[in-house]
Amino acid sequence: TQTVYTFGGDAPHNDPRQRDKTVTGGKGANLAEMASIGLPVPPGFTITTEESVRYLEHGAAFSDELRAHVADALAHIERAVGKSFGDAADPMLVSVRSGAAVSMPGMMDTVLNLGLNDETVEGLARVSGDDRFAWDSYRRFVQMYSDVVLGLDHGLFEEAVEIAKEDNGYFTDTEITAENWRAIVDEFKQIVKAERGGEPFPQDVHEQLWGAIGAVFASWDTERAKIYRRLNSIPHDMGTAVNVQAMVFGNMGDTSATGVAFTRDPSTGERSYYGEWLVNAQGEDVVAGIRTPQYLTKARREAAGAEKPSMEEAMPAAYEELARVFDLLEKHYKDMQDIEFTVQEGKLWMLQTRTGKRTAKAALKMAVDMVDEGLIDEKTAILRVDPMALDQLLHPTLDPDAPRDELASGLPASPGAASGKIVLDADTAELWANREEDVVLVRVETSPEDIHGMHAARGILTARGGMTSHAAVVARGMGRPCVSGASAVSINLKERTLRIGKRELKEGDVITLDGATGQIMAGRVPTIEPELAGDFGVLMEWADKHRRMGVRTNAETPEDCKTARGFGAEGIGLCRTEHMFFDAGRILAVRQMILADDEAGRRKALEKLLPEQRSDFAEIFRTMHGLPCTIRLLDPPLHEFMPSRDEEFEELSASLDVDVEHLKRRAGELHEFNPMLGHRGCRLGITFPEIYEMQARAIFEAACEVTAEGGDPVVPEVMIPLVATRKELQILRKLVNDTAAQVFAEKGAEVEYLVGTMIELPRAALMAGEIAEEALFFSFGTNDLTQTALGVSRDDAGRFLSPYVDKGIYARDPFVTLDVDGVGQLVEIAAERGRATRADLKLGICGEHGGDPESIAFCEKVGLDYVSASPYRVPIARLAAAQAAL
Ligand code: PEP
Ligand code: MG
Repeated sequence: TQTVYTFGGDAPHNDPRQRDKTVTGGKGANLAEMASIGLPVPPGFTITTEESVRYLEHGAAFSDELRAHVADALAHIERAVGKSFGDAADPMLVSVRSGAAVSMPGMMDTVLNLGLNDETVEGLARVSGDDRFAWDSYRRFVQMYSDVVLGLDHGLFEEAVEIAKEDNGYFTDTEITAENWRAIVDEFKQIVKAERGGEPFPQDVHEQLWGAIGAVFASWDTERAKIYRRLNSIPHDMGTAVNVQAMVFGNMGDTSATGVAFTRDPSTGERSYYGEWLVNAQGEDVVAGIRTPQYLTKARREAAGAEKPSMEEAMPAAYEELARVFDLLEKHYKDMQDIEFTVQEGKLWMLQTRTGKRTAKAALKMAVDMVDEGLIDEKTAILRVDPMALDQLLHPTLDPDAPRDELASGLPASPGAASGKIVLDADTAELWANREEDVVLVRVETSPEDIHGMHAARGILTARGGMTSHAAVVARGMGRPCVSGASAVSINLKERTLRIGKRELKEGDVITLDGATGQIMAGRVPTIEPELAGDFGVLMEWADKHRRMGVRTNAETPEDCKTARGFGAEGIGLCRTEHMFFDAGRILAVRQMILADDEAGRRKALEKLLPEQRSDFAEIFRTMHGLPCTIRLLDPPLHEFMPSRDEEFEELSASLDVDVEHLKRRAGELHEFNPMLGHRGCRLGITFPEIYEMQARAIFEAACEVTAEGGDPVVPEVMIPLVATRKELQILRKLVNDTAAQVFAEKGAEVEYLVGTMIELPRAALMAGEIAEEALFFSFGTNDLTQTALGVSRDDAGRFLSPYVDKGIYARDPFVTLDVDGVGQLVEIAAERGRATRADLKLGICGEHGGDPESIAFCEKVGLDYVSASPYRVPIARLAAAQAAL
C-alpha cells in the first residue's frame, strides 16, 4: 500500500485512500480534496497514519522505503514550485504539520519555514529582496523547531527577543530590523547549543525534515495527547499523518496576510462569514494571540467598533476570492467549514479546511438553515447534531433581568453561563473540582497542557487570544462557556491574585462568565430556564417523525414530570416511589412502619402513608394527561430510610416515644453486609406484602379518582423490581390484581392497568421466557443489570473504574454507556425469549443508559419499544432515537 501521497501541482488525486481521513488524516484528506476541486493549495505530500503507527511500533526508526518515497514526493514539490530544497541560491521552504483522523489539540502542530539555515537564509533574502523578511522567517523557524522538535523551552527564546527589544528601546516586534533579527538568530543558536549540551541547531535541511517528521509521529504518544484522547473517547491506535507542504508567506509585507475563518458563525450559526486575519504575519500569529487579529468582514468590524480595517476593506480582491472559495467549499462539503488561508503578495492560498466545530446552538441553526437552503435533507440534518451537545441548550442561562456587577468583558468565545471560584492553573482546577467545587479557570492563554483543567472547570476565561484561540476552540468542543481575549484581566501567579478591570481579586473568589456576551461579573448571577422553540423545535419535530422508539422519562415529582413533558416525554418509564418516602412529612411514618414489631404495627403506619401516596400519584396522573405511567413498587433496602446519626436517633425517639436504645437495636438488625444484593426489591413485597398492597391501593385509587375527573383515562403500569424468578412475580402480580379488584369494587369504577417487571438480574434475563407469562411488560433496569452482570458495585465503581477505562479493559464506563457485548447480550436474550412467550410484550429501558445516545442505538437494534431518560435527557434521547432509526 502507498505510504506517501502527493497533492497540488500536477499530482493525481484519484486514489480514494488519499481522501480517507483514517489513512491521510483530516488535514491531508482535505488538502487532496481541495486540490482536486481546483482550489489553490500549495503543493505538498502526506505520509499516512499507518506509517506513524509503524514508526512507533518499530522503536522510532524510519524505513528505507519511506525515505525513498519522501525523496520522490519532495521532488514533486520542487517541480511544482520550481525551486530546490536546500538550494542556497533560491531555497524551497516547507511547512510540516501533523494531522490525525480527528482534530486533536495536544499533538505537535506545525513547523514553518523548514529548510532555512545559515546559507539558504541569504538566498531567501536575495530572491525576495527583503532582508528583514528572510531573517524574521529564520528566527521563527529556529524558535518553532527548537520548541516542538527539540523540546526546548520556548520561554528562553521569547526572553531573548524581549531583551533585544529593550536594549534597542523598541515597543513592538515590528520595530525590530533585519540586523536585529540576524543578531537574535545568533543568540538563538547559542541557546540551542547550550541547552543541547553542545550540539548545534541542525543546518542540514534533510536532517531538519526528518527531525520534524519524527517529532510529529512521536507527538501522538505524548501525555497530553493521550489525555485528550481519553477525554474524547478517541482510540489510541490510529496514529497521525504528516503533511509537508511548500511554504507560502503571509509575512511578505503589506500585500500579504494570514487568517482563519469559518464559512458561518460558529457561535450562533448565522449565515455570515466569520474570521480573523493579520496583515504581514505568519499562521501561528493569529491563533497564538500575540497580536490582536482583525475582523474579516466590514459588517463585523463595524458592529464591534474596531478601527483596524477588515480584510474586505483592506484587500478587496483577495477577499472576493476567499468568498468564492467559501461558497465552493460549502457546496462541496455541504457543511460549515473552518479554514486557514494565506495571502502571499495578493494571491490567496488555502492551507486547510475541515468541518468546523460549533456550539450546539449553531449546530441546530445550521442544520435547519441548510435544509431550507436545499443543501442537505432532513435526515442529514438530524444526523448532523450531536445529541449530547443539546445539553448545552437545555441548561439554564443567565437571567437577563438579574443585576450584574460587571468587572470587564472579553470575546464571547463559547456560550453558556458559568459561575465558580477563580482558579489560576489547570491542576488546581482539577483538585478543587474533585472536591465538588465549581471553578472557573482563569489563564493568560491556554495550551493543550491545560486540557484537564478546562474539563474540570465550569467555565474558562483568558486574557489573550481571539475567537479561534486554543481556549475558544477547545471550550466550544467541550461545551464549556468561555470568554477569551479579556485584556482587562491581569494575573499574578506568584501571589495567586488577579486584577479584572479596576478590581483586585484572588484565587477562590467567585465570578460569573456569560459566554454569549463575553461579560465577566463578580459573584454569582442567577440563571433562568432555556427557551426551546425555534430551530430546536424544528429539529425535534423532524426527529420525532423519523424515530421508531418512544421516549419516556424517569420522574417522580410533578415538577419533574412537567419539565419532562415540556421536553417532549411521552410518558413515565420509571417512577421510583421510594423517593416519595423520603419526604419530610412522611419519613416518620415510614420509620414507624419499619420499626413495627408485627404486621399490625406496620399496617397502622402504612395507613398514614396511603393518602400521601395516593395524592402523589394523582398529581402525577393529572400532569401526564393519560400518557402511560410506569410506577415501580418499593425497591431499596429498608435501612436506607433509617437515621444514621445519634441526634437523628434522639429526635426519632422523642417523636415516636420509643426508647433510643430500642431504635438503635432495630436499626442494627436491619444492617446488611451487601444491601444491594440483600433484602430489597420484590423481596420486600414477598416478606412484607402489606407495603406493596398499600402502594397498589394508592395507585388504583388515584387512577380511579383522576379518571373520574374526566379527561384522558389513566392506565397505570405497575412494575415489580428486582425479580429473579417467575414465582416471585406470580405472587406479587396476584397481590396487585387482588388489590385492584378490591379498589374497583369499593369505588364501583375500573381502570385499565398493566402489571410488569423490571429485568435487573441475569437470571431474570435468562428466564425471561417463563417470566413473561406473568408480565405484560419488561423494563430493563440496566443500572442493576450492569452491576449484577459485571459483579461491579455501582456505588463503589468510582474507585477503580477509571483506571479500567484508561487501560482499555472497558472502552467506556459501563454505567454510562451500556456494555453492549456483555450486558447487551442479556438484554437481547431477554427481549427475544420474552417476546417468544408473549408477542405483544412491551419492552423498555429505564436505567441511566436510556439517556445515552450509544446505548439508545443499541436499544433500537434489539427492537425495544421505548427508552426512558431523566427529564433533561429527554430531548437527547429523542434525537438519538431518530439517529438510531435512520
Ligand atoms: C436500574 O437498576 O436500572 C433502575 C432503573 O433502577 P434503580 O436505578 O432505581 O436501581
Ligand atoms: Mg434497579
